[in-house]
Amino acid sequence: MDWFFWVIIGVIGVAIIIAGIIITIDGRRQRQLEAEARPELEPTEAEPPVVAPVDVPVGEEPAVVDAEPVPPAAEPEAEPAPVPTEPAIDEPEAPTSRWARLRRRLATSNNALARALGDLLSADKIDDEVWDDFETTLITSDLGVGPTTELTEALRKELAIDGVADPERAKKVLRTELLKLVDPTLDRSLNLTPANEGDPAVVLVVGVNGTGKTTTVGKLARVLVAEGKSVVLGAADTFRAAAAEQLATWGERVGVETVRSDEGADPASVAFDAVAKGVDTGVDVVIVDTAGRLHTKTGLMDELGKVKRVIEKKAPVTEVLLVLDATTGQNGMTQARIFAEVVDVTGIVLTKLDGSAKGGIVIQVQRELGVPVKLVGLGEGVDDLAPFDPEGFVQGILGE
Ligand code: GDP
Ligand code: GDP
Ligand code: MG
Repeated sequence: MDWFFWVIIGVIGVAIIIAGIIITIDGRRQRQLEAEARPELEPTEAEPPVVAPVDVPVGEEPAVVDAEPVPPAAEPEAEPAPVPTEPAIDEPEAPTSRWARLRRRLATSNNALARALGDLLSADKIDDEVWDDFETTLITSDLGVGPTTELTEALRKELAIDGVADPERAKKVLRTELLKLVDPTLDRSLNLTPANEGDPAVVLVVGVNGTGKTTTVGKLARVLVAEGKSVVLGAADTFRAAAAEQLATWGERVGVETVRSDEGADPASVAFDAVAKGVDTGVDVVIVDTAGRLHTKTGLMDELGKVKRVIEKKAPVTEVLLVLDATTGQNGMTQARIFAEVVDVTGIVLTKLDGSAKGGIVIQVQRELGVPVKLVGLGEGVDDLAPFDPEGFVQGILGE
């Protein structure tokens, strides 16, 4: 009977092993289902949804994979990735979140100024040498000699009274003085009120080639359309065929009409036609993009002067925006002076602040031209244009 006893034991043993295997497989399947469900719940960065994080072990039935399709993790609060090529059927980013995002970039882009201020605040003893270094850095940050001297003198006076024992207090003084230089009292709104009732507002965009005029026209049109305004674009940069093409592409994206002509056409004529179109169709704003060939000052003056004069046969120009590339520093300042002599600039658009380590140009260009910086460009994305915000700018360059 001994052998019978052992057979029973053997059968029971085999049964236990089989049961164990079944439980193990089941457990694995369960864990896998859980793993698939998890990406939905975890607040991690969304992976590209096409790549499902499913690792199918060899031997598992495909039914397990099919049972739980992996939906893309929906994250309503996540910051939308900048998609410059995206058609602008979607809503543009809200101005506040736009500026908050841009300020973070500003904080890193203006590091020369921020570093000078940091060095000053962290110095054990502020002697003449420290002040000299401070001044030098401010000048190399494109702040300009006048504003640099003013800022340094104001700080020396304030900090001599109170000392810099309290860095928080020193920083406050700095913030106040910088804000004074940026001048929060200037009117930075675009003048989009037509001179005569029924006319469109006319925005003329000027500046050297490559500064970002066409890009700015596109971004601005997007903002205006989102505000419910009707817009027509005029491609008065007829120097290269590609220029009109670039503007028309922006127009399509934003859903507005672009008036254009052939390469080599008279820019004034295209500008005229664009404004005429705006008048005829009763739009709110016509934005005219121009070429910025800085061949000779008289050539430029003739061309831009003529464009403006011819436009005004139809409707007065309400805003002349000068687009300046912040990364060009003192060269940019020279260009700005020439343009300001040639045409009545009413606002400055400072582009590529994201690529500049020298935010001081904001202060210098306003001072010299007596014209406020109204808009800033902080990237190539469709929403990378923001109204200039003095407080935000100062916080940005102080790294706050
Ligand atoms: P335009 O010749 O003055 O019309 O200049 P474009 O609008 O064609 O722009 C020239 C280049 O500068 C393009 O590659 C733009 O994408 C780029 N650009 C324009 N604005 C900005 C900005 O604010 N930041 C950065 N990083 N690039 C910009
Ligand atoms: P000015 O003599 O230099 O002041 O300029 P004009 O008034 O003679 O115009 C010069 C150019 O502007 C013309 O050759 C046209 O290209 C353009 N222009 C002026 N008036 C009109 C107009 O009524 N329609 C169109 N399409 N273009 C015009
Ligand atoms: Mg252009």
